[in-house]
Amino acid sequence: MQVYKFGGASVKDAEGVKNLAAVLKTTGYDKTLVVVSAMGKTTNRMELVIKNYFENKGELQSAIFEVIKCHNDILLDLFENKRHQVFADVKLLFDELNLFFKSNKSPDYNFVYDQTIGFGELISTKIISHYLNEIGLKNSWIDVREFIKTDNYYRRSNVNWDVTQENITSKLNGSILNITQGFLASDANNFTTTLGREGSDYTAAIFAYCLSANSVTIWKDVPGVLNADPRYFENAQLLHQISYREAIELAFYGASVIHPKTVQPLQRKEIPLYVKSFLNPTADGTCVSKGKALDPEIPCFIVKKKQILISLSSLDFSYIMEENISEIFSLLHLYKMKVDVIQNSAISFSVCVDNLYNNLAKLLQHLKAKFNVTCYDNVSLYTIRHYNDVAVKELEKDKTVLLKQLTQGTVQIVTQ
Ligand code: ADP
Ligand code: ASP
Ligand code: MG
Repeated sequence: MQVYKFGGASVKDAEGVKNLAAVLKTTGYDKTLVVVSAMGKTTNRMELVIKNYFENKGELQSAIFEVIKCHNDILLDLFENKRHQVFADVKLLFDELNLFFKSNKSPDYNFVYDQTIGFGELISTKIISHYLNEIGLKNSWIDVREFIKTDNYYRRSNVNWDVTQENITSKLNGSILNITQGFLASDANNFTTTLGREGSDYTAAIFAYCLSANSVTIWKDVPGVLNADPRYFENAQLLHQISYREAIELAFYGASVIHPKTVQPLQRKEIPLYVKSFLNPTADGTCVSKGKALDPEIPCFIVKKKQILISLSSLDFSYIMEENISEIFSLLHLYKMKVDVIQNSAISFSVCVDNLYNNLAKLLQHLKAKFNVTCYDNVSLYTIRHYNDVAVKELEKDKTVLLKQLTQGTVQIVTQ
């Protein structure tokens, strides 16, 4: 079996859906499970829908209408027969979404988020599955929530591997072409959960692990894993092959081409991961597999923008010791700050974090009771793997360096 994953960029419009079909025809789709994300920027649009539900009810319907409109344009482009079942199926999903908002009683943002955000994936897979059937690529649409089970840590839930394995082994017919949703799962009470933004790569890896698949291919708008994000760095070069370890490190530091949790399940079963261009499906792309040396061996650049650098020092020149550090980490954990880099000296402690849940103000209030606090908002965190002097100098040019940390093989630089 093989597992394919198509992200939002690959199915952003009707052309994208037709291209997905062309990729399947070119590469073969026997015994294939295809994981698909929401179309284009749908998830961002759904985030606005949810925000309006909580903060600006007057704009709720217009935000939902935006989502409906994008999908209608694609539907009209793909299906000539306007009485095709797909129109009713998609309408049903939007009705379900509206019904949820009408009847929901929960004030829990994260819960509501997970019950609604995934309509993007449910709709995209409905459209794609119908389209493929229509043009002769017979497939089965499956609801991922019946297979992948998680805890109820909404918006970043953790997989219950035993139950998921059991479901996939007992219920999935692997001998056909299956189409399913990335990003979504469900908890023990069958409420929808999500695996974290950009989590569809991880969905592909979960299925591949439980199916002991031969390979996973994630189809991207880039030729493969490059040594830098081409949006921010000129002359990014294709890495033909990298090890699982390298891929985990790159993803961990923020190379957003692969979701950080994707690699570990594949590495455990030594399932190769291919990252390929959906525009050039016969090109080799990047192969991530066991122990492969980085080819070519060049510095790899990663940037995370909009990070926060918090520097703390003790109020009375006392040392920052284990107790303080553990207290600082408890607070970072409490406010769900994702920690990127830490650095400490006798009386100071700096931490660069990702304020994913908008809890910065609360965190700072807490910290200021105990420490002198300096906070730099909107900093960039650069990481260079396999760095050399030239690469570091080039990067630091024209930037104010706030923090720099060198370890063997990796340098991290926070700049403003
Ligand atoms: P998907 O459509 O699957 O969601 P993403 O947008 O998440 O795809 O990932 C592809 C994007 O990742 C590329 O367009 C590119 O801008 C970005 N990217 C970041 N780092 C890298 C890298 N090292 N190599 C290739 N692409 C990268
Ligand atoms: N649609 C989700 C997101 O945009 C999941 C994914 O694309 O991987 O975050
Ligand atoms: Mg994505």
